[in-house]
Amino acid sequence: MARVNDHYLKLRASYLFSETGRRVREFQAAHPDAKLIRLGIGDVTQPLPAAVIHAMHEAVDEMARAETFRGYPPETGWDFLVEAIARHDYGERGIKLAPDEIVVSDGAKSDTGNIQEIFGPDCVVALSDPVYPAYLDVTVMGGRAGNADANGRYDRVVYLPCTAENNFQPHLPDRPVDLIYLCYPNNPTGAVLTRAALKTWVDYARERNAVILYDAAYEAYIRDGEIPHSIYEIEGAREAAIEFRSFSKTAGFTGTRCAYTVVPKELQGRSGSGEAVSLNALWVRRQSTKFNGVAYVIQRGAAATYTDEGRRQVKGLVDHYMDNARIIRDGLEAAGLTVHGGRNAPYIWVKTPGRLSSWDFFDKLLNEAHVVGTPGAGFGPSGEGYVRLTAFGARAAAEEAVERIKTRVAL
Ligand code: PLP
Repeated sequence: MARVNDHYLKLRASYLFSETGRRVREFQAAHPDAKLIRLGIGDVTQPLPAAVIHAMHEAVDEMARAETFRGYPPETGWDFLVEAIARHDYGERGIKLAPDEIVVSDGAKSDTGNIQEIFGPDCVVALSDPVYPAYLDVTVMGGRAGNADANGRYDRVVYLPCTAENNFQPHLPDRPVDLIYLCYPNNPTGAVLTRAALKTWVDYARERNAVILYDAAYEAYIRDGEIPHSIYEIEGAREAAIEFRSFSKTAGFTGTRCAYTVVPKELQGRSGSGEAVSLNALWVRRQSTKFNGVAYVIQRGAAATYTDEGRRQVKGLVDHYMDNARIIRDGLEAAGLTVHGGRNAPYIWVKTPGRLSSWDFFDKLLNEAHVVGTPGAGFGPSGEGYVRLTAFGARAAAEEAVERIKTRVAL
């Protein structure tokens, strides 16, 4: 028998969504007439923007003719897309990126996970708590997490608690780390990092030769003009950070798949013998060996988000979700709940009332309002005492959920 990767056996079962699913199914079986409102999902619900659909149709027609047919895409992305990204997402914010610092991919989930492959097995990983669960699982799979205790905490991971006390902006690690996952705007707390806080992290990473893995998948949701959209708005970040972006939550590409990762040329790691090594070169090598590029039709769709029409439509989508966020946030505050997030992010982080646990409040919302959230404890111990609601549903669902919570839930 072939030996398996034992690190996979250290993964905790994905308890959160299987357990919420089980409770919802049980509830629905016992109450077949109850109309559930699902505010637990992190997936978008609005269709792709018309400009994207139009560009994809045209691209499909190109694929139908021998003269315009395209086979394997360039492994790091077609020039038309990479150049549009550099010009619009960065150039317009005063950030200069070379096209070959941008690597197009099929998702921020895969990139934030796969990136660990270019680092040594003994790298120490720091993660926020609560956290987007995939970062932890890939750390376990790569053998960098160590062993879990009875509460599921791994002994080699450095956890960075994000709590109301620190405004969900973690303190610097209290021991040396090599890789630091930061996700802002944050899933699940909906928090953002101020420019000053982000600068502290960049300075720290430069001083300690650590690398920040900056997940900016929700950057389009930032409303506050003072909040940085990219880590490269901070001086020195080119020597300290890799940035991940995605068309998923911005333009509705969760089912279509297109994202990109920025690895600046200045960013270096070191080899076992102590020599400096370009992380950009390693990532491009990794991607061109293991990934054969994003489909032409999809990249044409992604590029269409940068046309005038596409930008207007993408803004419309994001505004729609952010109006939902406002409705949910304001409604729950009016009901007397303490609510975080939802101002610069599509996630609303609701404090459980009366010291209820995350799971008890989840059950209460389900039983009394027929509203499905996600228990905060499932994202890490510091998520205990919170439930995450998302703004990705339909407008009517957001309004009705708020109304039900106000009128039916004994708070
Ligand atoms: N990063 C964060 C923080 C997310 O919340 C998600 C999806 O929920 C992703 C990445 C996944 O993005 P993609 O669809 O590009 O793989």
